[in-house]
This record gives sequence, C-alpha cells and structure tokens, in this order.
Amino acid sequence: MHSTTASDNPTKLLAIVEVDEAQKVQCQEPGCGHGVYKRIHVVDVGGGQIMVMGSTCFEKRFGSAPHIQPAYTANGAGRRLTEEQRLLLVHNTAQLLAIFEDEENAIRARRLEVLERSRKAIADRQARFDARSAYLRQLRAAEVPAQATAKAIPWGWVKPMSSMAYFHWPDGQGWIRVMHGNGSQRVMPWPTFDGWDEALPPSVGNPDLDLGGYRVTDILPCIAYLRKHALWERIGIWSDIMKAISKAR
Ligand SMILES: [Zn+2]
Repeated sequence: MHSTTASDNPTKLLAIVEVDEAQKVQCQEPGCGHGVYKRIHVVDVGGGQIMVMGSTCFEKRFGSAPHIQPAYTANGAGRRLTEEQRLLLVHNTAQLLAIFEDEENAIRARRLEVLERSRKAIADRQARFDARSAYLRQLRAAEVPAQATAKAIPWGWVKPMSSMAYFHWPDGQGWIRVMHGNGSQRVMPWPTFDGWDEALPPSVGNPDLDLGGYRVTDILPCIAYLRKHALWERIGIWSDIMKAISKAR
C-alpha cells in the first residue's frame, strides 16, 4: 500500500470518492461537519481509525499534496460511488474499503496473469525461433557441404596413380571423375550428400548405390555436363585435387 506520509506516521490516504450532490456526506474532521460530495477523502488516520473528510479539511490537516495517490482509487479525480456504496461509506466505511481491497486484488491478479501469459508467449516464440534457426542451420549445412578434404582416396577400387578430375559446382557441391581398376569411369559426389543419386541426369551415368556414385556410360557427354555446370575444375592425382579444394576454401 502507498503510504502518504513518512513511515513514522501511519496516516494513509485510502480512497478519493464522490457521491451525488443531493446525497452529501458529512466531513468527519472535528469541528467541521460540512456536507461534501466531491473529492471525499477516506483516510486511515492511524490505529485503524478511518475518517471521511472533505478535500479542504484533508489539505488543511495533511497539506496540499496532489502527488498523493490513494491506495484503492488510483484516479485522484474521485471515484463515483453507487448508492449502495454511498450507504456503506456513511454507515460501514470498513466494509466499503474491504470491497475496494477485493477489487484491487482482482485487478492485480489479472495484471499478473496477463504479464505471465505475455512472458509465456514471448518464451514460446523464442523457442519456436530457436528450433527453426537450428533447423535452418542444419539445412544450410546439408545444402552447402563443407569443402572436405581427405589425405587418402576413400575408394579402394580406384586405379592406382590414375588421373582424375574434380568439378566444383556453384552450390558448393563437388564431383570427382575417377577411373575404376577395371578401366571404366565413375563420377563420385565429393563430399557425398543425401540425394546425390538424383543430382545428375542419365547423360552422366547411372547411380550405383553400393558404390556411392555414378557408373559412367559415355565419358564425353559426362565430362561436358560436369564442366558446363562447374565454377572451376582441377585435373590431377588425388593430392592435387585436395590441395585445390583447400585453396578454394
Ligand atoms: Zn471538513
């Protein structure tokens, strides 16, 4: 609750209310007794003693303090009371204040609920964003493969010391044309990726899933196709190609 004065003085402004002019209530400041209807101050003057005062008497006693906010009626302009509430003000002020207290608690609980719901909504959005970002990062990592290198040829069937060709595509994917020990040609994805077997047209060759690459049927259209789509290419032995990939990084 807001304290209207220093802590050593327990006086508390509880509410500012107003009633119909024809239904004025009596100011309880000793020696006053005027009928008041606008800006009626309900004050806890200490020790649980509640007084209903006109604004003039309130200011005389406590000083003019427009910054003082009543505990229950936030709007200093004065809350208009219903007839029922006016009767309570006159005959059972404590009961009226209890009603105000209940209202205030309900408002506070609603505010807290709204705040918690909006915090939860923000947390949910952040979680969705994080999940989506992680997913996109994964997707990007899959789409643009690292320009991986390896010291040794990973395929045991390659004809020793044979020349090979690397074709680097704009999407970051590479393809290596290598010769099999039996003299036929293969085109291998480098590095390999999901869906490699659907990445090249039949003019290049046929995907061999056990091999992990394409069996080339006709070498000339195969090379023409890979070259046409390549940003750059490197012909040489394995170590030449790995060096070129490292440099292009
Ligand atoms: Zn008065």
